[in-house]
Amino acid sequence: MVQKLRVLGVNAHPHDFTWYSGTLGIHAASGDAVTVVSVTTGESAHNEALHDELMKPEAERDPAIVNQKPGDFSALKAKEMEEACAIFGITDVRNLGFPMPFKVAEYPESVRALREVILDVRPHIMITQSPFLNGHQGKTSGATDDHYETAFMSLEARSQAANPVFGDTEAPHAIATVYYPGVYFQNEEFDFVVDITDWFEKRVAAEDKYISQGHYPAWSRRRMEVSLGNVGWFAGTMYGEAFVREKPELVSRMTVAESDLRRASEPIGDYYDRIVGERPPAH
Ligand SMILES: [Zn+2]
Repeated sequence: MVQKLRVLGVNAHPHDFTWYSGTLGIHAASGDAVTVVSVTTGESAHNEALHDELMKPEAERDPAIVNQKPGDFSALKAKEMEEACAIFGITDVRNLGFPMPFKVAEYPESVRALREVILDVRPHIMITQSPFLNGHQGKTSGATDDHYETAFMSLEARSQAANPVFGDTEAPHAIATVYYPGVYFQNEEFDFVVDITDWFEKRVAAEDKYISQGHYPAWSRRRMEVSLGNVGWFAGTMYGEAFVREKPELVSRMTVAESDLRRASEPIGDYYDRIVGERPPAH
């Protein structure tokens, strides 16, 4: 019997969960409880429409876009996130509503807010933003970035949830394992890849929901082909979502994944069929 899991995804912005949403969909479909949290409203991220209006001479700007209030935009972002979650069967969607740019030092109450979510949801798995300052992004936007701030805040909330404080009514809760989405890492750093080939069209549909970020069908499909296709190709399937573990897993013995055993013994034509979606002509 497969153990029923509770999975909590913690994200800086309403769009960030999409990077592992196919995996969440697989878990939701198999009866696991899935909760998605956005720490910020996403109010000042990716306002593509406003960007393009402000590029125009003042007289030609659309007042409906230019005079939009941040609250209207936040409400739109929240709706997009809920609709995207619904595609994957996720109904427990929570927005903590902190403003952007998000700084834990300015909003220390965010740790308490997320701790309460953890004590309520009591997840086995937390997927959260990566705390590792990687590559050029780490060098330039690094420690001031919402994603890193969310990473540090969520790991602190995780630690605090495991320890009781006076006034608590809930029992403390220790999260069994923490993963970071592979999108923040190089392929060689991945610990495992979830095969989401069957969920590809839903991933494209979810991208389409973020109209406020300027997404449209051709753009969404191309972005998913390139990003999920890269991970899938690396892992030997058509489309994949990668993860990095917070720490090594303690096991009682070594195991070999079914997919690795299959790959080791299958004809090349079968392998090509799986990563390309079509067999080579000679096989
Ligand atoms: Zn983000």
